[in-house]
Amino acid sequence: MRLIVTGGAGFIGSAVCRFLSGELGHQVLNVDKLTYAGNLASLRSLDSAKTYRFVRADICDEQAMAVLFQEFRPDGVMHLAAESHVDRSIDRAVDFVQTNVTGTFVLLEAARAYWNTLRAPERESFRFLQVSTDEVYGSLGADGLFQETTPYDPSSPYSASKAAADHLASAWYRTYGLPVVISNCSNNYGPYHFPEKLIPLTILNALDGRQLPIYGKGENIRDWLYVEDHARALFQIMTRGRPGEKYNVGGRNERRNIDVVRRICEVLDEMRPNGAPHEQLIRFVADRPGHDHRYAIDAGKLEGELGWRAEESFDTGIVKTVRWYLDNSWWWKPLRQGIYEGERLGLIHGD
Ligand code: NAD
Repeated sequence: MRLIVTGGAGFIGSAVCRFLSGELGHQVLNVDKLTYAGNLASLRSLDSAKTYRFVRADICDEQAMAVLFQEFRPDGVMHLAAESHVDRSIDRAVDFVQTNVTGTFVLLEAARAYWNTLRAPERESFRFLQVSTDEVYGSLGADGLFQETTPYDPSSPYSASKAAADHLASAWYRTYGLPVVISNCSNNYGPYHFPEKLIPLTILNALDGRQLPIYGKGENIRDWLYVEDHARALFQIMTRGRPGEKYNVGGRNERRNIDVVRRICEVLDEMRPNGAPHEQLIRFVADRPGHDHRYAIDAGKLEGELGWRAEESFDTGIVKTVRWYLDNSWWWKPLRQGIYEGERLGLIHGD
């Protein structure tokens, strides 16, 4: 297959490129603007792969997107490019509206123009996968799970911009027949996660003996999925999902933020036994405005229809993740300067 992956230099997009091109041998064109969150070092394993190409481009650039479709002639698009940090969206929403809403619109139009030139069977098999988040559903109370039918009720500028993009994608299916599929996934974690998000920030701050900031009392609950499980799910949805449908993706791994941070501290205490327990570094800070209490995904449709299962439990995945950060300082050391910049800007941690 020939696939365009937007945002392939980001955390999840790079896992998708490594999986599609490195493991499955599909032809991948990674289209990424390389914002602060894009990092080609995450794709070093594909440097000499004949199945992988990178183009630096902004998905908001109509002309560039049209040319890429005409020249690469993809069998489908996996659209992951986005501004993704909730705190940054609260601080400055304009980039989120521009990339997540306008950028998705431009990409949908480029895909539609190209799709209109296709003949059967390529026209029928073409897919536009809109990769989205469970945050579009808003916040859950103590009970219940997000279903595909749960109404959208976003709280932050980030989740509102993703919700808008999902609605555009649905409309392009209903109005123009473009074969769109939407995935809504819970929080990801794993290798190559940008160190402004909760899990990598906690690991790296703990290694440096720096404070481990947690919003509120740390009681917000997220449903964690190992990033490689997400990459496999996206490929299943892309190739076997039904056009016009949505698929929730999650691993049934709900954890309170405080428990996530404590577990990382325990793992580090075991891996680095010398010194004071890392838990002493935890600091609670004033809560994020509009902070959703709980996200939890029912992935039953994806499991039942497409046979996908999360392979990694949180307990095994977090150990692998901590080990990866200990073994790969070459990747994160150059990025840490930016994190201190983030602290200066008053950012605490992303989910
Ligand atoms: P990320 O911030 O790590 O990566 C985003 C990538 O998009 C970066 O490489 C960046 O350079 C690129 N990008 C940003 N603006 C662009 C533009 N205008 N044109 C081209 N490229 C641009 O994000 P991520 O965590 O890998 O998330 C990827 C996608 O998955 C996003 O759409 C996000 O909403 C969604 N998602 C993320 C999670 C999560 O837990 N991280 C969960 C569910 C869904």
